Amino acid sequence: MVYRAEYLWIDGSEPTREVRSKTKVLADGDQPGIWGFDGSSTNQATGDNSDVVLNPVFECPDPIRGGDDIIVLCETLLTADFSPHPTNTRAAAVAALAKYGDQEPIFGLEQEYTLMNPGTGWPAGFPPNGFPAPQGPYYCGVGALKIHGRDLIEEHTRACMDAGLAISGTNAEVMPGQWEFQIGPVDTVTVADHLWVARYLLFRLAENHEVEVSIEAKPMKGDWNGAGMHTNFSTKAMREGYDAIITACEAMGADGVAERHLAGYGTGIEERLTGAHETQRYDQFSYGVSDRGASIRIPWQVAKDQKGYIEDRRPNANADPYVVATLMTETCCAALA
Ligand code: ADP
Ligand code: MN
Ligand code: MN
Ligand code: MN
Repeated sequence: MVYRAEYLWIDGSEPTREVRSKTKVLADGDQPGIWGFDGSSTNQATGDNSDVVLNPVFECPDPIRGGDDIIVLCETLLTADFSPHPTNTRAAAVAALAKYGDQEPIFGLEQEYTLMNPGTGWPAGFPPNGFPAPQGPYYCGVGALKIHGRDLIEEHTRACMDAGLAISGTNAEVMPGQWEFQIGPVDTVTVADHLWVARYLLFRLAENHEVEVSIEAKPMKGDWNGAGMHTNFSTKAMREGYDAIITACEAMGADGVAERHLAGYGTGIEERLTGAHETQRYDQFSYGVSDRGASIRIPWQVAKDQKGYIEDRRPNANADPYVVATLMTETCCAALA
């Protein structure tokens, strides 16, 4: 049977990368191979040399179309020599995993996002000319006055499961209209591949619900929580002992390291990491057990068991997961080597 492959790739949009997609119809028995696109329309090339190569790296069933249709996530390559395009952040993640794979790094990413009402330009649940009641009842809330957009969230979770992604949960967040899903625990490259496909499915399904998904880090200024992408991380040594947990935390706080990481943790980080709303200030580094006001939280269960994982609370919702996973793999695994 003739079938469709939805090719996805990450564009060159600044300051926040976005996912793009287009459809290829394939004959029965044909495999989705290398393809290309017009990079001058995605901030990835100039008009006089516009072709960029799409190289398939991860494939899964298309849960929206069903049947034989598939999704094909691609990395971008240069036509000249098939080397990684400058906007291809996956190649570095592959290299980091190849270098440190023997330490078995694994990640769980908590992708927060906000449903925006296209009519008002405000988050779902915010009245057109005012504000909802202050934060408190919304996190993991139940009921129509507290919850906005659950049908979409249910559809998205099901879609991720049907696609075979490593989705591990969802919850309503602290600000009205704000939600989260988690991907993990899987390796440095897989977690980011799955997160990008899950983002695509979310944006795509939202088209049918008359809401726009925003991964902006601080969609509502003032006394409203921002949106992050908490990054949970462990290596085999961290899963086996507490010394490795502390070594990883110390490595993240070493001279110059925090600055380098923050540069890759998404745009608008200063607006979100204010020291309020369950964050540490962007210009201070700390780690602590159960501390949601720290840069890095050691979950209480981990302190109790004396082994497990750490949670870097700093990455923004709008960060590129390939970049975040590469930074953490390199910093922690180098210190633990
Ligand atoms: P929070 O309490 O911060 O909201 P969540 O339950 O939303 O935490 O997310 C925790 C994430 O950590 C999940 O994606 C889970 O798969 C992941 N995780 C669990 N154990 C590990 C581990 N050993 N290493 C890395 N990630 C892990
Ligand atoms: Mn969470
Ligand atoms: Mn959260
Ligand atoms: Mn968290």
